[in-house]
Amino acid sequence: MKTTGKIFLALALLVAAGCAQQEKKAEGKTDRPNIIFILSDDHAFQAISAYGGRLVQTPNIDRIAREGAIFRNALVGNSICGPSRATLLTGKYSHINGYMMNEEKFDVSQELFPRILQQNNYQTAWIGKWHLGSLPEGFDYWRILPGQGHYYNPDFIEKGGDTTRVPGYVSNLVTGFSINWLEKRDTTKPFFLVVGHKATHREWLPDLQDLGVYDSIQFPLPANFRDDYKNRVAAQHQDMTIAKTMRLKEDLKVHLDYSKGPVYSRFDSAQLKAFREYYEGKVSKEFDQQHLSGDALLQWKYQRYLKDYLATARSLDRNIGELLDYLDKTGLSKNTVVIYASDQGFYLGEHGWFDKRFIYEESLRTPFVIRYPGVIQPGTSIPQLMVNIDWAPTMLDIAGVEVPQEIQGRSFLPLIKGDTQNWRKAAYYHYYEFPQPHHVYPHFGIRTEKFTLARFYDQADTWELYDLEKDPGEVNNVYGQKAYAQVTDSLKQQLQSLVKEYKDTAAERILER
Ligand code: CA
Repeated sequence: MKTTGKIFLALALLVAAGCAQQEKKAEGKTDRPNIIFILSDDHAFQAISAYGGRLVQTPNIDRIAREGAIFRNALVGNSICGPSRATLLTGKYSHINGYMMNEEKFDVSQELFPRILQQNNYQTAWIGKWHLGSLPEGFDYWRILPGQGHYYNPDFIEKGGDTTRVPGYVSNLVTGFSINWLEKRDTTKPFFLVVGHKATHREWLPDLQDLGVYDSIQFPLPANFRDDYKNRVAAQHQDMTIAKTMRLKEDLKVHLDYSKGPVYSRFDSAQLKAFREYYEGKVSKEFDQQHLSGDALLQWKYQRYLKDYLATARSLDRNIGELLDYLDKTGLSKNTVVIYASDQGFYLGEHGWFDKRFIYEESLRTPFVIRYPGVIQPGTSIPQLMVNIDWAPTMLDIAGVEVPQEIQGRSFLPLIKGDTQNWRKAAYYHYYEFPQPHHVYPHFGIRTEKFTLARFYDQADTWELYDLEKDPGEVNNVYGQKAYAQVTDSLKQQLQSLVKEYKDTAAERILER
């Protein structure tokens, strides 16, 4: 009797364990990974050492790349802030999700993939920069910066709460709030968290501890720094050069008036003291002593621009490290996918520019690294063309959720696992915002492995073609040259079919002209 009783008990325990396991599976508690998407603003791949950046070290972004995968050709469909975020949320190009230019109001009633994650038992949160005109939908929790937000002592709006001004530096606050949320979350569910950074957006304010950190470094000029824009109408008419557009006072902080404007009036006395000591006591003083003009002034501006920009990026990178450390400490690293991306690339003096917008490499491409323990082999490098329309479907794929047909991108998980067949050979791009700011003519085009073909329209009715192998700096527009006639025909056909596939009727009409 005794033995029979033991067997019965053992069987009962097994059945109970089996039931519990089934229940857990049904609720998706155990086997679906968490996802953290760290999204910065205007962070150039040239400024990241994992991309072979010529400038500084970014050890924490590099760590994600080293422990996971780096996308060498991650592109955006429309190289400005809001539209890139709208594409992240929808998996669609701007002409479909309706958010084509900054400072419009994003329609949050449309299908957003975080809402689909919610319906599939994920907790969702967006913390930090949002900047889409409307308030977030599809998130269990959000705490965002109104508009562009501020670097120091920024305001935050919290879901179900008020707008409050929080003392501190924005990258540290966004990281701290993210960790707070992780601490308080419902641990029975997997989560999707966007950590939205303001850095490294203009006006490039570093954390106090990073002020002047790169002052001893003389940064090299990009090869095409003195671009003459020959044969390129749009490049001739832009308003985004370091020489003319970049402002000594507001951008480079020479003789700032700290009592005026929304940025510095919110500083506390310690912050004001540190800024005055550095920008007034050192930077402005050096500037006054040198009596710069012409090319010397241009080079000084370039050096100052990079020093501020890269110091701001350093504050950002340190915060990414803090989040990674937290995940290690809590054991979350094991079952959490971590992504670092920027909303688009940025010019660090290439073509003589700052800002973004053009289909040219530095703004078309964006940094994108992803760590997915057990799925992505550490040290993976992906050369294929990935576009930000692929971000949403990949998140759904990671969560094991079916991707709705209307999403225009594709999950890149198969690609990352080595299945490169049937992956896209050409990527589509369409930029709209004109004339303000920066006066970049609207254009659409395609990028293949070797070429970029662009159609500028409205005021600039022109084509441009770049042979990226021969001309990586994109200073020779070879459109119309005999040697490229065949290539051009083929690229135009590919462009036409992409325009159709993505239902860009405005571009279709322009091609028919
Ligand atoms: Ca941006």
